[in-house]
Amino acid sequence: MKIFLNGEFVDKENAKISVFDHGLLYGDGVFEGIRLYDRCVFKLNDHLERLAYSAKALLLELPMSSEALSDAVCETCRMNELTNGYIRLVVTRGAGHLGLNPEGCGPASVIIIADKIQLYPEELYETGLKIITVASRRINSAALPPAVKSLNYLNNILAKIEAKRVGFQEALMLNDKGEIAECTGDNVFVLQKGRLFTPPLDAGSLRGITRGVVMDIANELGIPCSEQALTRYDLWTADECFLTGTAAEVIPCVEVDHRMVGEGKPGSLTKRFIDVFRSKVSVEGVKI
Ligand code: PMP
Repeated sequence: MKIFLNGEFVDKENAKISVFDHGLLYGDGVFEGIRLYDRCVFKLNDHLERLAYSAKALLLELPMSSEALSDAVCETCRMNELTNGYIRLVVTRGAGHLGLNPEGCGPASVIIIADKIQLYPEELYETGLKIITVASRRINSAALPPAVKSLNYLNNILAKIEAKRVGFQEALMLNDKGEIAECTGDNVFVLQKGRLFTPPLDAGSLRGITRGVVMDIANELGIPCSEQALTRYDLWTADECFLTGTAAEVIPCVEVDHRMVGEGKPGSLTKRFIDVFRSKVSVEGVKI
């Protein structure tokens, strides 16, 4: 496997960065998870835009233009002869001193890993996920905008561990008002009486690229979709529920906090979203 590291392609074994990199010392950096479908990089420009916004929010200067990053992502996929895969694009603050002060750090490091995707078992798309609310809350937007896709994922990691320890694959995370924010790496949607709802960004949701695609699909299908503050009650009493994310795609959720969602099976509208989503992925991407 060849890794893109600061403008060069290096073997996996030699893909190393400094122990003084503030990405390692402080989680000071940003990243994107991107999918390659049938030699097409899905929504590449949207991912690069989100990366640029995340970096801008952290006053982190990207060392490469969006065009150069786009080329590097495609080249990394070609180098590794991938047809389908998962791409991790990481930009760290770079090596600096041991203190927090980012002055003197840099240049920023750019890492691109293109690997095969470890998918959720197909069976889960047929049977649906069961999720549980955990105590770890989504980061408060007054502390750090949750829209920034930074290298700091500790509260989401804690949430994942909490869910796993009690036998669930995925955790539902609330914000500090007790509203639904999202799952640890996925956005949440509910269908109620033919309408689609998802929490607004200020509830602590990441502006998921898949979330955006699903909103577009709702529009195409003529299903009214709105961003609305949601409570656990809204999920417990929903007709259907699903999660969205680059890795998970659109995955049905059939149980929330031990309450069956709808009939306890993936709903018919959820299945339509999955089908339409899958029909889009390889035709709408950037050809590598
Ligand atoms: N929320 C969080 C916290 C995430 O890490 C992700 C995955 N990047 C998502 C939501 C889903 O976003 P996307 O559809 O862009 O992958």
